[in-house]
Amino acid sequence: MNNLKKDFDNYMLGVFSAPDIWLERGVGVKVYDVEGKEYLDFLAGIAVCGTGHCHPKVVSAISEQASKLMHCTNLYGIKKEVELAAELCSLTGLGKAFFSNSGAEANEAAIKIARKYAHSKDQNKSNIVTADNSFHGRTLVTVTATGQQKYQKGYHPLPPGFTYTPYNDVEKLKENVGSDTAAVMLEAIQGEGGIIPASKEYMASARDLCDDFGALLIMDEVQTGIGRTGKFLATENYGVEADIVSLAKALGSGFPVGATLCSDECASVMKPGDHGSTFGGNPLACSAALATLEVIREERLMENAANIGAYMKDALSKMSDGKISVVRGMGLLMGIELNGPNAVHLKDWCAKNGLLVGSIKDNIIRLAPPMIITKNDADVAMRIFEGSIKDL
Ligand code: PLP
Repeated sequence: MNNLKKDFDNYMLGVFSAPDIWLERGVGVKVYDVEGKEYLDFLAGIAVCGTGHCHPKVVSAISEQASKLMHCTNLYGIKKEVELAAELCSLTGLGKAFFSNSGAEANEAAIKIARKYAHSKDQNKSNIVTADNSFHGRTLVTVTATGQQKYQKGYHPLPPGFTYTPYNDVEKLKENVGSDTAAVMLEAIQGEGGIIPASKEYMASARDLCDDFGALLIMDEVQTGIGRTGKFLATENYGVEADIVSLAKALGSGFPVGATLCSDECASVMKPGDHGSTFGGNPLACSAALATLEVIREERLMENAANIGAYMKDALSKMSDGKISVVRGMGLLMGIELNGPNAVHLKDWCAKNGLLVGSIKDNIIRLAPPMIITKNDADVAMRIFEGSIKDL
């Protein structure tokens, strides 16, 4: 392990610290490190492995496709790409799909579609309104959309045309949306911001303001989508419909795939050559995504996420040792806010005790377990968590 860490520091760009845990394999809710230690994985690759690690149906879909055709570019068609587009349109109620490889790229496409649509109405309609404390990715445009300066530091000049508005503040949103607004871009639950759900009133106002000013509502569902909150999109919990939705993370069960879905009306401005991605809609990615959606449907994982999520939230909220301030979230995306800046220490302590969780900022623990977890898995994880928090 020490040699691996040394090589990591020698050869890897220093944007990540050398990890303490080196994983080798995973099955279902469990992962195993290079020394054979078992962990209950309640982070799931940061909300990626919704169907668990190496779900047999996803593995066989990828393996089967790998032996037939791994890549062909968008110059030629593959059946599975169109099947995936049709299925995502039916699940979201949107009209057209564009495939890429990550959440940032899915958001980049969302912003480009919104700008082009807005310019088709008015060349000065360019502004994208995003929320303070949001996270939309690490490309230059998506890091600009991200309303957190810490991610932008050192990369100026940033592209113009973005305005930030306080999250869940309806009055400020009204001040910031106007006739120059091309789109309002939001997360239904701010993930990297600390698992902070939008209020119903805020989401409804965002939709109304977009309608009033001819702007588009982009929902970034990269972290919240694909059933994790109990609905396919977290936005559905609000009874609001977006014009553009971005997806990634859990869509491929760990195989990289991003998707941008938009209404037929928005899509009408995008013509051949207007956007593209060499690997987007790759046969392997589409196979992984189709198998993921099938598993979610067959194993009723959205219902499971809603039920076990509610059970865990209730149990965690009752852990009354004075160290937890509040438990937030929906379904199986939860944030446990601590009373002190102990999140990193607690995360490390949980890992020593065989439970992987995430930390956000210095006082929030993130739980995003696979959607296949049973009540027993939840009980075991919460016992480890409770024991670890007592030792803080
Ligand atoms: N949008 C949201 C809401 C995210 O949580 C993330 C990643 O955490 C991204 C976009 C960026 O996704 P990716 O890292 O796949 O580019």
